[in-house]
Amino acid sequence: MLEIFLSEPVGATAAGMASIAPTPPALMDSYAAWLAEGNAAGMNYLHNHQPIRRDPSLLLDGAKSIVSIAFNYTPPENPENLRSKLADYSLGSDYHDVVKKRLREAVEALQSHTGGEYRICVDSAPIFERLWAERCGIGRRCDNGLISVPGCGTRVFLAEVLSTVEFPAEPALRNIDGRVEAITPRMLAEYECTHCGRCRRSCPGGALQSDGTVDARRCISYLTIEHRGEWDPTGSDVMRLPAGRDSLYGCDRCQHCCPLNAGAAATTVAEFLPRPEVARLTATDILALDQPSFSCLFKGSAIKRAKLDGLRRNALNARPSQSSHPSQSSQSSQCSQCSQCSQCSQSSQCSQSSQSSHNPNT
Ligand code: SF4
Ligand code: SF4
Repeated sequence: MLEIFLSEPVGATAAGMASIAPTPPALMDSYAAWLAEGNAAGMNYLHNHQPIRRDPSLLLDGAKSIVSIAFNYTPPENPENLRSKLADYSLGSDYHDVVKKRLREAVEALQSHTGGEYRICVDSAPIFERLWAERCGIGRRCDNGLISVPGCGTRVFLAEVLSTVEFPAEPALRNIDGRVEAITPRMLAEYECTHCGRCRRSCPGGALQSDGTVDARRCISYLTIEHRGEWDPTGSDVMRLPAGRDSLYGCDRCQHCCPLNAGAAATTVAEFLPRPEVARLTATDILALDQPSFSCLFKGSAIKRAKLDGLRRNALNARPSQSSHPSQSSQSSQCSQCSQCSQCSQSSQCSQSSQSSHNPNT
């Protein structure tokens, strides 16, 4: 059954299955403590749906099985040695759409054999996906908080398929260089976190905690993607660090430093390959975007989650001395609309002047 997830057109890197079961109370307790300490920052949705987190079978009437699936998104070596200021995962097409579409193919094929009901979750349900990745045997959790998949490392998207069908037991599988094979305990051990501490030392704002959880208030990924509006004093302190100035969207430091990711093969999923026009974006490019050009550039991209205001805030932080006014941008021709530019100096009538209010440093 699992092989269907690893073959084309699905193309996952690893898949494993387990019978559905409640979340261990100890994990629910530690999650509640993590929330109570404020580590979720502004992600209020993480406080919701605790009964489902406790019992994932509530997601699908009669659910009996869960399949955990990992897709490698490791970008290929960059021939020009360009380092993007955007997170690796965001450089291609939006994984929510890509993974869901591919998993639908698998589910349709399975359903035609087994019947039953299925539900696909790609960051779309309150489920402890790393717990299920471990239970399904596709990887182990690391000190950077992520799941390491044998032969691939931590740069994977995780997704789940719930089913009312009770599948016969089978070992988790991985696809390595086009070869599908069972994931053995030895493979898992080879890709187990060594607790070397590099990820914690590389984390600019000290967001990674000793138990592998993240304090979102100090995490550049949260601050540049999920956070809305200006940063609070803690967030501003982190974003004024060189690494904060260096980020336009997300952060990969706790993954780039990790030896488990060294030499990982590049993704074979064409949609995850970096879009050059996105990978090369600079702060100046972003400050020149208006809403139509933002929507056009990030159509089908996960980056639209930050919204234009969020990206502008990040870009202004990267270039605190740069005016956000489009008339001073290298791409000011993209400013479309108001014909005021020739007459004004950051006129309040300009349709883009509000972006300066997102600079936390002014
Ligand atoms: S950098 Fe070291 S401690 Fe951190 S996840 Fe990787 S192996 Fe584990
Ligand atoms: S994404 Fe960056 S800021 Fe967040 S925990 Fe990892 S290294 Fe730290």
